[in-house]
Amino acid sequence: MFNAVYIDKTGNELQVDVRQVPESALPEGDVTVQVSHSTLNYKDAMAITGQGGAVVRSFPMVPGIDLAGTVLESADRRYQPGDQVVLNGWGVGERHWGGLSQLARVNADWLIPLPKGMQPEQAMAIGTAGYTAMLSLIALERHGLSPDAGEVLVTGASGGVGSFAVTLLADRGYNVVASTGRLDETDYLKSLGASEVIDRNVLSQPGKPLQRERWSAAIDSVGSHTLANVCAAIKEDGAVAACGLAQGMDFPATVAPFILRGVSLLGINSVTRPTAERLVAWERLAKDLDMTKLDAISQHIGLGEVVATAEALMAGRIRGRVVVNVNR
Ligand code: NDP
Repeated sequence: MFNAVYIDKTGNELQVDVRQVPESALPEGDVTVQVSHSTLNYKDAMAITGQGGAVVRSFPMVPGIDLAGTVLESADRRYQPGDQVVLNGWGVGERHWGGLSQLARVNADWLIPLPKGMQPEQAMAIGTAGYTAMLSLIALERHGLSPDAGEVLVTGASGGVGSFAVTLLADRGYNVVASTGRLDETDYLKSLGASEVIDRNVLSQPGKPLQRERWSAAIDSVGSHTLANVCAAIKEDGAVAACGLAQGMDFPATVAPFILRGVSLLGINSVTRPTAERLVAWERLAKDLDMTKLDAISQHIGLGEVVATAEALMAGRIRGRVVVNVNR
């Protein structure tokens, strides 16, 4: 038996609890992982609270789109018992039982080795949020962004993706402006490296199709009017990495920034990135990220606190990241 967060559905009612599950109930897969840590991402909070859209595709489900742990059994040559591994995405915690659990059985193709020098709890403090922030930075740099370009905007800055976007950009020498609804987190955002903190209300209402050119680039985890206003104020030939929908999935914009200023909208999908791209992103995280900032960005909980913390996350009351020690 192992402990897991367990979601079931009767009619339209979700039942979520932490319970003991027999190992025989684990799904098919070629690698069994003794999970040590998982995380709570926005998507996990959506799955657990049932708010904001249908994340869970089949029931019962063990949520958790991220996990870190040690291989117990493997039918795949690439992984041996004792290997430390990380998993992000691939529909785990949505269609396939996930990481908020002491045991997981997954496909070997979904795993990557834990980056050298990184502890499992550090990998989970980063999690899909930090990995997505890194994918966004890589996409902007591929587009040609460099630290001398001018101000780079990060929206949803106090959240998980936002906190890492601010940190990663600032540590690389970019001039980062952080947009947040929590101006009381100004000191936190400046400690991560933001040079200026702005109120998200200036971006979240309907705005003009073209606005004063201010941002050389942006990482947006918010969507909706915020993304439209961000695009409208990007400088000529700049780019926006769009990775989230915390304000909304809509995009009430015009094509004006794209056809009159050559602005590029770069979509970021962390879930099904090929392994080679994942390895590049995680290697850069291991090399570039100032690990001393992880304490400020993350808080640690046990499995029993997951449901209440998911509700707090959906209510916008969680700063940065939540690491879940599944054995606590
Ligand atoms: P968090 O809840 O940690 O952060 C979201 C932040 O968005 C909040 O902290 C808040 O920042 C801001 N926000 C929340 N509600 C609103 C609103 N109504 N209007 C404007 N801003 C708002 O979530 P994550 O950082 O984990 O994820 C952020 C988004 O990115 C989610 O939509 C998630 O689904 C998506 N995502 C997508 C991925 C991909 O592969 N494309 C991967 C990972 C995440 P503040 O308080 O500072 O204003």
